[in-house]
Amino acid sequence: MSSPLPLAGLSAVLLLVSASVAEAKPWKHAGMHPRTGRPADGLCHIETMHVHTAAPVHGETLYRTRDDVHIFIGDPTPFGYEGPRHAYYGHHPVVLNVYIQVDVDVVEYCYHDGPHYHAYAPPPRQEFVDREDVHYYAGEYPDEYKRDSPRRGRVNTVYSGWEVPRPVVTVAPPPQYHGPIIQVGLNLPVPRVELRVGAPPPPPPRREREVVIIREEHVVHEHHDDHHDHGKHHGKHDKHKKSKGRH
Ligand SMILES: [Zn+2]
Ligand SMILES: [Zn+2]
Repeated sequence: MSSPLPLAGLSAVLLLVSASVAEAKPWKHAGMHPRTGRPADGLCHIETMHVHTAAPVHGETLYRTRDDVHIFIGDPTPFGYEGPRHAYYGHHPVVLNVYIQVDVDVVEYCYHDGPHYHAYAPPPRQEFVDREDVHYYAGEYPDEYKRDSPRRGRVNTVYSGWEVPRPVVTVAPPPQYHGPIIQVGLNLPVPRVELRVGAPPPPPPRREREVVIIREEHVVHEHHDDHHDHGKHHGKHDKHKKSKGRH
């Protein structure tokens, strides 16, 4: 009963546990990212690979990982970002080799609804269309985009609690854009949603409740009456080429 053996065994186990906890701590990051999950804490600007002892907050929505390296792909605006930025509308591919040199594109998807900013330009080998200096993804969305949509799309819930200045968009998205068209950033208590993924939904049979919910007073008028900026940016080439020289 009072044999010393079990105790010796226990302390050995405790040592092992604390060693593995210490080793599990460093979280690898590459590129600029929020210091914490709170906008007031600003950004960490280290571009090269580096390590933090705290796990990234909102890791699943604000970051993508490659070989255990966390890469922030979200809109840096709420965190006080003041560097060069690129305006996007809706969901689009992001190529992680913006930060990490690899031979093939590592494509992930941004699920920010509506107009938003990124520090990075659209990936050169992906198709984008520009309207009013806003980039719209013009390609098809693959299955993995749809598969990840439920968990990655929660990025919009994360950002809905923050003050996020957004690019001004006064015209409707170009037809080449097939992503969701969602009105955001108007401080509405409930996001007003017009889903227009793929073909427009058929008029609802009277008794299908879910369709009624989507159409019920939540239709957003993307076509503003105010066309003061109209025409200014028209005639732009559709294929995205620009990647430098903001001014
Ligand atoms: Zn950092
Ligand atoms: Zn985006």
